[in-house]
Amino acid sequence: MAKVLCVLYDDPVDGYPKEYARDGLPELSGYPGGQTLPTPSAIDFTPGVLLGSVSGELGLREYLEGAGHTLVVTSDKDGADSTFDRELPDADVVISQPFWPAYMTAERFEKARNLKLIITAGIGSDHTDLDAAVRKGVTVAEVTYSNSISVAEHVVMMILSLVRDYLPAWEVVKEGGWNIADVVKRSYDLEGMHVGTVAAGRIGLAVLKRLAPFDVHLHYTDRHRLPREVEESLNLTWHESTADMVPVCDVVTINAPLHPETEGLFGDELLSTMKRGAYLIDTARARITDRDAIVRALQSGRLAGYAGDVWFPQPAPPDHPWRTMPHHGMTPHMSGSSLSAQARYSAGTREILECFFEGRPIREEYLIVEGGHLAGAGAHSYSTKE
Ligand code: NDP
Repeated sequence: MAKVLCVLYDDPVDGYPKEYARDGLPELSGYPGGQTLPTPSAIDFTPGVLLGSVSGELGLREYLEGAGHTLVVTSDKDGADSTFDRELPDADVVISQPFWPAYMTAERFEKARNLKLIITAGIGSDHTDLDAAVRKGVTVAEVTYSNSISVAEHVVMMILSLVRDYLPAWEVVKEGGWNIADVVKRSYDLEGMHVGTVAAGRIGLAVLKRLAPFDVHLHYTDRHRLPREVEESLNLTWHESTADMVPVCDVVTINAPLHPETEGLFGDELLSTMKRGAYLIDTARARITDRDAIVRALQSGRLAGYAGDVWFPQPAPPDHPWRTMPHHGMTPHMSGSSLSAQARYSAGTREILECFFEGRPIREEYLIVEGGHLAGAGAHSYSTKE
């Protein structure tokens, strides 16, 4: 019987919800492009409830304990004396989410003597040292597509809120003010602007599709070019590299995984090639940008605005400079953890666990590392240092 160690974010400060803003969730028939929604044999939760926090337990307890396994759930994940570190040595399976990541460093791999499977309940497994997983023969899987559309919607919201300068206007209303000039002096229309995405995978392409009706000029760069009919239907301009694309864009959105090719990509040098007054949105991973270079670009006016929901480390410390830098629209890491997304990634986590315990193959599109190699989706989108 296995021990499953699951790291989740804390419950709301006023306690686990007793009621919700809406009754249930819309039913989806599948993901864009035909990938099926998660297919566990059953679920033991009501879609639409809070599953991503400690008391929600990703809806897994009944299933795991019913099968004789042990489930340990904690939010205490950092520091050598954390509950996570104490529970890790005999854990067979580790589950965590990018929103509140259990950083699976090479050092922790050494401690985790029984570890066979790491599941990212969501998308983006960069909090796991993939080289170490390859070396140790540990399988890494994530719930591909579970929150891609959730993030794409967040990106569109952030682009509009920065360009139109929505957040400062909302502050003025809350403070009882009414100076129109104050709230329009940095407010523009998105129409006619050049918008580019770094990567056009599931999220990047969904952002492009959602922005097309805004009558903007759409650009992208990616390691693999999209099919010609997709480029034509959205009137996309493809660029060989990020460096080629950003100088022509008014708005840039980053939708690539964090891996050796993308780490630190947006530093002083690349930012200096952007148009004065460009907007940058990063909901992918914070370390794709250089933290202090972003602050400098906002202070100098090179960037007119920066938004996103990804920080390093997470949780971000109270004195993280992005909390106080000018013209930002940051949120805590939340875009991929809407109640809608939680229902999908919880069901997908259960599907992966069922496959693992029953000795059935995990879907290719969920696999990042397997059998000592990058595999499935991981082989397509990630790279390792070694
Ligand atoms: P996909 O795997 O569908 O897409 C990633 C794309 O990035 C692929 O098209 C890949 O190219 C491309 N890519 C990889 N490296 C580069 C590079 N060096 N330059 C340009 N493009 C590159 O993933 P998703 O779209 O679903 O997710 C993307 C990322 O978003 C995740 O890895 C995660 O970090 C982040 N994310 C954030 C969430 C949040 O809550 N904020 C939630 C979900 C995801 P190709 O495959 O063609 O080689």
